[in-house]
Amino acid sequence: MNKYLLPVIAIVIGVIIGFITKKQKSKGTKLLLSFSGAFLLALTLFDLLPEVYHHLEAKQTGLLIMCGVLLQIILEFLSKGIEHGHDQLHKENKEFPWVLFISLCIHSFLEGFPIHQHNDMVYGILIHKIPIAALITTYLFQSSYSKVQVIGFLLIFMVMTPLGTYMSNNTVLVNEYIDFVNAIVIGIFLHIATTILFETGEGHKFNLSKLVVICFGVFIANLI
Ligand SMILES: [Zn+2]
Ligand SMILES: [Zn+2]
Repeated sequence: MNKYLLPVIAIVIGVIIGFITKKQKSKGTKLLLSFSGAFLLALTLFDLLPEVYHHLEAKQTGLLIMCGVLLQIILEFLSKGIEHGHDQLHKENKEFPWVLFISLCIHSFLEGFPIHQHNDMVYGILIHKIPIAALITTYLFQSSYSKVQVIGFLLIFMVMTPLGTYMSNNTVLVNEYIDFVNAIVIGIFLHIATTILFETGEGHKFNLSKLVVICFGVFIANLI
């Protein structure tokens, strides 16, 4: 049950944080992003990567991971990185942000696939989704979209990950190709985690709190 519930809880927590802070570039959000990036990256390397390499051929795995990286580059190009803290506000625009919405939904749907009983990926996704949901919420509430649009956006976005998990755990067709999808998701995670880690710093200045938070993220991932 947790594998369906935790990603939803993450969005709820994120929406509450976004609602309270109402500020995109607070130091807290940045540290939370750094932590989530490091934690997700570590869990991907500890749990998901060995699992996929175990089931698939090495070269094939590598190729699929690269496809995932490429897919995430395209998705971030479409979303303009709003989910990890780039504010692209066009206040006058009242039309529903379809491109952003669809790109975020594809990402969320796919990241539901590697969640199953035998690994701890659900915790990585839980932590990864909190700052993302907070940033999307701030973005949506600063825009001039109607309440119905905002709530609809968040609700559908919220169910995409459990939907992916359900598909990967319950359909025969997907079951045969699950390792292929998981390899692509590894690429997605590698790209988003490293992008977040890179972008939460200013230039390449030394940042002690960021470094501490990253080590903490890896340490916690190592414990579970
Ligand atoms: Zn970015
Ligand atoms: Zn994600």
